[in-house]
Amino acid sequence: MSNIVAIVGRPNVGKSTLYNRLTESRKAIVDDFSGVTRDRHYGQAEWTDRQFTVIDTGGYVAHSDDVFEAAIREQVVIAIEEASVILFVVDVTTGITDLDDDIAGLLRKSKKPVFVVVNKVDNNNQHTEASVFYALGLGEIYNISSMTGSGTGDLLDEVIKHF
Ligand code: GDP
Ligand code: MG
Repeated sequence: MSNIVAIVGRPNVGKSTLYNRLTESRKAIVDDFSGVTRDRHYGQAEWTDRQFTVIDTGGYVAHSDDVFEAAIREQVVIAIEEASVILFVVDVTTGITDLDDDIAGLLRKSKKPVFVVVNKVDNNNQHTEASVFYALGLGEIYNISSMTGSGTGDLLDEVIKHF
C-alpha cells in the first residue's frame, strides 16, 4: 500500500469522527488481524482526484487501564513505520495533556511528516485557544472541526503534497 495517512492521538479527541468524515461512503478494507493490528481500521479516501488509505487507530480492542497508554504509544510507533503522513489529533477543548506531550515526543523523533490537527474548533472564537498547540513543538497546526468538516479541506490540500 502507498499513500497511507494514519490518525493517531489519545482517546476522545475525535480520531474516529475524522476517519469517518475522510472515508465517507467508502468501504472499509482489511480487518482480519489480531492484537494491535485488529485495533486499527483501514478505509479508502480521495481528495482532488488523489486516492489514499486512512488508518484510524485505537478504540476497537478493550484495554485494561494499565496497558492503555502503552497501547496508544504502540499505535504511534506502528504509524511512524507504515504511514506516509501522520495526523496527530488533539482537542482544543482540553488543551495539551500529559499524554499529548508523550505522543508528541515520539513523533518529534520520527522522520515522517506529522500534521498537528487541532480538532473540535467548531467556531471562529476557538482559533485563538488552538494556538497553544504550537507548544507541542511539531510546527504548523491545522484547526478543524471533524463534526462540521470545517478546515479539513485546507488540511488535505497540504497532506496530499506528501504523496
Ligand atoms: P476518538 O476516541 O479519538 O476516536 O474520538 P471520537 O471520534 O470517538 O470522538 C469523541 C467525542 O468527541 C465524540 O462524542 C464526538 O462526537 C466528539 N467530537 C468529535 N469531533 C468533534 C468536533 O469536531 N467537535 C465537537 N464539538 N465534538 C467532536
Ligand atoms: Mg475512536
